Amino acid sequence: MQKVKIFDTTLRDGEQSAGVNLNMSEKLEIARQLERLNVDIIEAGFPAASPGDLASVREIARTIKGCSVTGLARAVISDIDAAWEALKEGAEPRLHTFIATSPIHREFKLKQSKEQVIETAVSSVRYAASKFAVVQWSAEDACRTELPFLAEIIEQVIRAGAQVINIPDTVGYITPEEYGNVFKYLYEHVPSINKVELSTHCHDDLGLAVANSLAAVQHGARQVEGTINGIGERAGNTALEELAVALHIRKDYFQAETRLNLQEISRTSTLVSKLTGMEVPANKAVVGRNAFAHESGIHQDGVLKEKTTYEIISPELVGYQNNSMVLGKHSGRHAFRNRLKELGIEVQDQEINRLFSVFKETADRKKEMTDEDLVAIVLEEGLSKTESFYELKSIQVQYGTNQIPTATVTLSGSANEEIQEAGTGAGSIEALYNTLEKCMNETIDLLDYRIQSVGAGRDALAQVYVKMKCAGKETSGRGLAQDVLEASAKAYLNAVNRVLYMKESAEPIVSR
Ligand SMILES: [Zn+2]
Repeated sequence: MQKVKIFDTTLRDGEQSAGVNLNMSEKLEIARQLERLNVDIIEAGFPAASPGDLASVREIARTIKGCSVTGLARAVISDIDAAWEALKEGAEPRLHTFIATSPIHREFKLKQSKEQVIETAVSSVRYAASKFAVVQWSAEDACRTELPFLAEIIEQVIRAGAQVINIPDTVGYITPEEYGNVFKYLYEHVPSINKVELSTHCHDDLGLAVANSLAAVQHGARQVEGTINGIGERAGNTALEELAVALHIRKDYFQAETRLNLQEISRTSTLVSKLTGMEVPANKAVVGRNAFAHESGIHQDGVLKEKTTYEIISPELVGYQNNSMVLGKHSGRHAFRNRLKELGIEVQDQEINRLFSVFKETADRKKEMTDEDLVAIVLEEGLSKTESFYELKSIQVQYGTNQIPTATVTLSGSANEEIQEAGTGAGSIEALYNTLEKCMNETIDLLDYRIQSVGAGRDALAQVYVKMKCAGKETSGRGLAQDVLEASAKAYLNAVNRVLYMKESAEPIVSR
């Protein structure tokens, strides 16, 4: 069996998805879960992008010891220095640096000749190799690059000290057979190729990212980059859970395996989806809600007689369990904490009291508390509460079929002052949001609003996601409550608080 390393870029390429912005504790929570999933490498961010990015990459490198942590850097000394600052305390400091190699990028973006591109790449790799234990180099837009030039520049960066060579299909353009042939070509035309590991990085613009990555594995790629749930720029990246399960279920064919702990897949998928607000489509392979649902009578009959008639993946393989019960209002702190632990959530001593009281409050109003409820509460109260400029004190909304909806809101501001406003709108949510906007000195455009129930039942908790433009920046937020209006107000404030926090903490280090 050939070993294939998994390089997870959920926190870098995935975080580049439109409208996704995670705070530090959310990134850390995802990193911890990726460690449990047992990925080989976590790309934690782009440290040169802002002091906030640098700080979160540093925190992840300090915390995660079970796998290697890396960060992205352009072929620029200051980027590599910022990455070193962020990664030097990691278990195995590893840099991921890149330069574009395709004619389109050389001519229009870099405005550099082939020779200049080679020179820039070689000197940046040489500089990086003087600091980092492992240097990975990527040829951005490799799949639209002339193959002889690609082979030439790869030979040069290997000689300069790169140990991993990544061949990204940056724009999601290539097909599986062609991609396999690129790897074959490089094995035949790069003299030093056997000194390095080759890596794939595919985008899903034509829906081929997983198929392309698998083709590369068949042609000698030893590392696959991707993200959980396939999130990322535009149509996203290779969905790592799909790739890992495909290798596992068809090991007879691929003869390759990852070291992933497949049972952690469903939990990882849920966490990433909840924190990023990027919903998983019901029909998505491996992690979609319907991925294991048999609907037609003929299929149900077959599965009842023998599961494997229509089921090639068992839900248990990827960590789905059928025990959703359950805690209630009589459950104690100990049971609460134990159940969280079983769900893979570790809570600090100083946090447990606050979380437990929120749990009790919710359990008083809701008969049963499922695992899904517990996870939602902890993610909400534990991770999004860290930076608050505005805090919700109270809301009152009036609605009647023949009345104008009216809202009254009381907030506390950053200096603990009380802010109170009233307003109207065409509907309840609009009245509420118009009033919240009045409370602030910012212009806010709502770009998206989504509401979901957490689990089933009439007394289910409401989870609201919003995307908005606030202070000229796009941001997103989420809110959880028993009542839909309260959840909506919380989501709105969560999004605003994130922007105000970013504004205070982040002046870009690199402006280029
Ligand atoms: Zn990418």
